[in-house]
Amino acid sequence: MTSIHLENLKKSFGAFQALKTMDLKINDGEFVALLGPSGCGKSTTMNMIAGMEDPSEGRILFDGRDMSGVSMGKRGVGFVFQNYAIFTHMNVYENLAYGLRVRKLPEAEIDRRVRAIAEFLQLGPLLKQPSAKLSVNILQRLAIGRSAIVEPAIFLLDEPLSNVDAAFRAVMRTELKHLQRQFKQTMVYVTHDQLEAMTMADRIAVMDHGVLQQSGSPVEVYNNPTNTFVAGFLGSPGMNLVRSTLADSGGSLAADMGTFGMSDTLEDSLARCAANENRREVYYGFRPEQATLAATGEGGIPVFFVERIGARTIVHLGRDKATIKIVMDNDNGLEAGMCARLTVNPGAVRLFDAESGMAIG
Ligand code: ATP
Repeated sequence: MTSIHLENLKKSFGAFQALKTMDLKINDGEFVALLGPSGCGKSTTMNMIAGMEDPSEGRILFDGRDMSGVSMGKRGVGFVFQNYAIFTHMNVYENLAYGLRVRKLPEAEIDRRVRAIAEFLQLGPLLKQPSAKLSVNILQRLAIGRSAIVEPAIFLLDEPLSNVDAAFRAVMRTELKHLQRQFKQTMVYVTHDQLEAMTMADRIAVMDHGVLQQSGSPVEVYNNPTNTFVAGFLGSPGMNLVRSTLADSGGSLAADMGTFGMSDTLEDSLARCAANENRREVYYGFRPEQATLAATGEGGIPVFFVERIGARTIVHLGRDKATIKIVMDNDNGLEAGMCARLTVNPGAVRLFDAESGMAIG
């Protein structure tokens, strides 16, 4: 096992800063997901950890040892890309055995490890199959097996499931987590898919525009986002963010959608904020599943659209456009055009400064 420290890492391509700043410590045996929208600098970060790109500034340390100038081959990392690197002229067995042959392991040991990893990844019956004829799903599983078999101390995976179908992706999420637990590797996993990050990672590092926005356990970043970007990016739908003005009386917020209540803790935060005139404009944030709706005859918030998706219903509220989304197990018979009373769980309310987008309190 190996720890990784990305120390004030920066990367520019010409005048363009792909990674503006990154300071992150990844512990021995930890599974960290780099999560963010396309172009936020995830792969650039990964390529620098692997040794494929040099940082413009900052350092990468493995177990405290500076990796500057250490080639990819000497870093002891396993790397699986979105586009699996498989030798199509070899069969499954030979592909799996390749890394161990390069390391000149005895044939009996190679055979034992090939069969073990093949069984783990359910490739056992396919060992003699020519790789050229395999489906995309199997090829990706083989690519993971080929890297995992050499048991690298650090395992880097860059969007390894983006080309495979949804059902297989769900299976592989569980298997990859299981693989990491078994081999106790330090794993860094790049994805723009929050479900992958939330289900597999011990810790998620959320990135946007080349900047690390927040790192924490899935529950932490979901429940206590540090800013409006993280709040909106995580969750499906993301956190509701209603621009509001602090009411002079405190205890509630006036927004164009009505008046929202708050918990005592938030009232304390608000009292502090109210002292600062710059902070009177805020975003009132709550997760779509942290509120309930009840139909009203008249008054309340208009229902704009009702989206029934099997076990759950997403109710979109708003006058001219959907402004707030509420996820319910029971849709209460709400339909577009009706009005509803919204009750937000006070403990789930988060406030953000409207100007900076940073969490308050
Ligand atoms: P994606 O999921 O789309 O790959 P990402 O978060 O992994 O996104 P990166 O691939 O790290 O993003 O790219 C970050 C930014 O840096 C992008 O704007 C990209 O166009 C730019 N970039 C990456 N590599 C280079 C390069 N070699 N030369 C110039 N610009 C680059």
